[in-house]
Amino acid sequence: MKIILTKLKNKILAGLIVVGTSFSVSAAPKVAVILDDMGYRLSDSQALSLPAEVAFSILPDTPLSASLSEQAYAQGRDVMLHMPMEAESGKKLGPKALTADMQPKRIQATLESALNSVPYAIGVNNHMGSKLTRETGPMIALMEALKQRELFFVDSRTTALTVAEQTARDLGLPVARRHVFIDHQQSPEFMQQQFERLVELAHRQGTAIAIAHPHPQTVRFLTTALQQLSDLDVQLVPVSQLFTPQLSPQQHHSALPAASVAPK
Ligand SMILES: [Zn+2]
Repeated sequence: MKIILTKLKNKILAGLIVVGTSFSVSAAPKVAVILDDMGYRLSDSQALSLPAEVAFSILPDTPLSASLSEQAYAQGRDVMLHMPMEAESGKKLGPKALTADMQPKRIQATLESALNSVPYAIGVNNHMGSKLTRETGPMIALMEALKQRELFFVDSRTTALTVAEQTARDLGLPVARRHVFIDHQQSPEFMQQQFERLVELAHRQGTAIAIAHPHPQTVRFLTTALQQLSDLDVQLVPVSQLFTPQLSPQQHHSALPAASVAPK
């Protein structure tokens, strides 16, 4: 493990020399990790052992949506709603999904109902959505509703053609995007490679956001990998600390479930 760490560190430093002089050593690069697709499997609760900086993004109306939200919140974690959105592939989306044929009112009502099943959500990222996040109309309807509720949005970027992030930015929401998926293959070698990409991006950009999933293999991998971050001069932070404009302290951890602050 030590050898891998040293190799990784050297690789990053070599990369930075190539990148140029804009990097300052005191910049303390930051990384945030979101674990999404949560809510269906009993094994998802193993992820509660991960550092409290790791956000949980929970699928609405799933067997564990309420209990996982409550436990994660009690640990001081960022809780997010993992909002299902229509995919190009026509894959099954599960309950409370947003689809391209919905009128704005229906999108907003579906969002509200989804939020009711994930108490304490302070932000949203999309589950799938390679079709819906390309469509400006539905994205405006969604982002306006998120803004009213003072929720942030992280674009999972399931398509390069997404307009979700830009729409959110145009409307003035706190917004960020996923840079790296850690575990679309679940071998330790693949996850290590993605983790190295994440660390390199953080050094290069100052911040980087990863999405991973609560597979037992991933939880095992992250348990070890996240401990290495400080040796790599990277700080693990809650995703809610990475927004511009920054969230107000109340938005980090609202004492009220998100649904209860919904406007009339
Ligand atoms: Zn998902």
